[in-house]
Amino acid sequence: VNTEFMSSLPPVPLARRSVFTHLLGTSSHAPHLVGGFPASSPAFIDAATGVTISRGQLRSLTLQLAHSLINLPEPLRHRGNGATTTRPTVLILSPNSIVWPIMLLGASAAGYTTTLANSGYNSEELKHQYIDAGAHLIFVHPSLLDTVKKMLTSISCSDMHARVIVATSGWLTGVPDNETPDMSGFTRLENLIGRRQLPSEVKFDGERSEETAYLCYSSGTTGTPKGVQTTHYNITSTINMARPLWPNTRPCLVPSIAEVAGPEQPDVALGPLPYFHIYGMVKLILLPIALCTPSVVLSGFVPETFLKAVEKYCVTSLLLVPPILNVFARLEAINKYDLSSVRTIISAAAPLNSNIIFAVKTRFERAGFNVAVIQGYGLTETSPTVFVLPNKYAYRHAGSVGLAIPNLEVRLAREDSGEVLTDIEGAGELWVRGPNVMKGYLNNPSATAEAITDDGWFKTGDIAVCNAEGFFTIVDRRKELIKYKGFQVPPAELESLLLQHPNVTDAAVIGVPSKEATELPRAYVVPARTIKKEETATFALGIQEWVTQKVAPHKKLRGGIVLVQQIPKSASGKILRRQLRPCPVPDINCV
Ligand code: AMP
Repeated sequence: VNTEFMSSLPPVPLARRSVFTHLLGTSSHAPHLVGGFPASSPAFIDAATGVTISRGQLRSLTLQLAHSLINLPEPLRHRGNGATTTRPTVLILSPNSIVWPIMLLGASAAGYTTTLANSGYNSEELKHQYIDAGAHLIFVHPSLLDTVKKMLTSISCSDMHARVIVATSGWLTGVPDNETPDMSGFTRLENLIGRRQLPSEVKFDGERSEETAYLCYSSGTTGTPKGVQTTHYNITSTINMARPLWPNTRPCLVPSIAEVAGPEQPDVALGPLPYFHIYGMVKLILLPIALCTPSVVLSGFVPETFLKAVEKYCVTSLLLVPPILNVFARLEAINKYDLSSVRTIISAAAPLNSNIIFAVKTRFERAGFNVAVIQGYGLTETSPTVFVLPNKYAYRHAGSVGLAIPNLEVRLAREDSGEVLTDIEGAGELWVRGPNVMKGYLNNPSATAEAITDDGWFKTGDIAVCNAEGFFTIVDRRKELIKYKGFQVPPAELESLLLQHPNVTDAAVIGVPSKEATELPRAYVVPARTIKKEETATFALGIQEWVTQKVAPHKKLRGGIVLVQQIPKSASGKILRRQLRPCPVPDINCV
């Protein structure tokens, strides 16, 4: 049985043009406007220093950067590193900073594809993405330059200095960058800015809007991280489609949507989401520009610094992930700050328990503030938004991820898997079709064909239910993906790493539920030799530490190691992960 739904919200018009033109385009008829809003309006505010970039400055800084990128020495502009790419690709490796939007949109104005790397990656993890994406250039935060050098040395890169641009921000904030002698010989971002600017961005109008703008990495339903080809059209569509349900938007031009979404109000956005994840990139960089919503830039999450920024910049929308809401639910410090500007707290990237929703609501209420705590749902592959819960239903439908955004078709498929998925009646695998669904996985037609049906349905790997009013709730996950604090942990990656350990013959990795982190990656390991009872703890700890040395912090085996005699597998050799959940195989040790 299939259940199909078209979004209950009226369709919105879409635009076939480049992300840059959509957000920061100008017209000779109204030269004072950038992307339809006054050039003087603030676009980004650096929380630490208060330094602000207006829309007009953002446009000119990005066009200056684009001019330099296009005029880089010949080999750099066109030479990838083996993989087939149609356009030059730049990789960004940086924690959030005020220069992030300049790099992202500067590359876009130059017509380059951008691949966004997790700033926690080590040189091996980075290498996979650099090579797979066919990157030519790297923008790197000064603190991560050593990781890049190590990675480029490991692939015997002979022109390292020409390939790396150090993403300095001191020239903008006035706070000196953490200078190290290591930076010598490398181009610094400020050297590419301040000269001439491109008269206009490289256009991707009409059919060219199907070209890839961004490559974020996702493991999808199975396997290791794959480059998700997000096109210009995907992004311009997702912006137009998400706009009506954005809680505190400015002009909401479709009256029937305004009715659902509530009254329009000016907005200021803040979130500790990393910009390298599509949720951060779209909701904290691109969508705010489209809405003329100033976005406050913060690197990392320190509760009191965060709350101070909310108070100082009168933030209205907080974009968070469940583990941070979990902190807020218990945070006494909420009473110390004036948070009266906050109207909406949005959580996405992982499931949010309704107890936490009410606990956060109560904590804010006790401090005298009324907020709507709502959820959104999406994936890297859907650019990212699929569902959003409008503010006015925050507590009536707490726990629901809300309504499908306009122009989207969704389906709950129950015939695909062969496996019994859930006991919940009406539940099925969520499939999505619409203009925000990715073009496919880079250089991976078979993974693309598995993920997207011939008639365009993308299979999310999540299990959902829908109530009579069209509100969706995510109830389970069919795919093997683990979510640690909103970050993807692909089990296949950890399993292949564990198999390289000399004392491991087989391994399976699953997520064990955690209140603080959603899930913790746990490995079930078959030792290559007999382990005496008294040495099990040391043996398991040794493997855990070995993995820690080799992976980004979010992939550490925080859920421990369980030594087992065998890994449950199907006749075809597929790991039966559901059987590991209650762990029916005899435990030797659990750390
Ligand atoms: P990513 O591509 O990293 O954004 O991960 C997408 C996955 O995160 C989805 O397929 C879901 O499994 C999970 N996810 C995102 N938002 C939610 C949510 N609100 N509730 C439950 N799971 C979510």
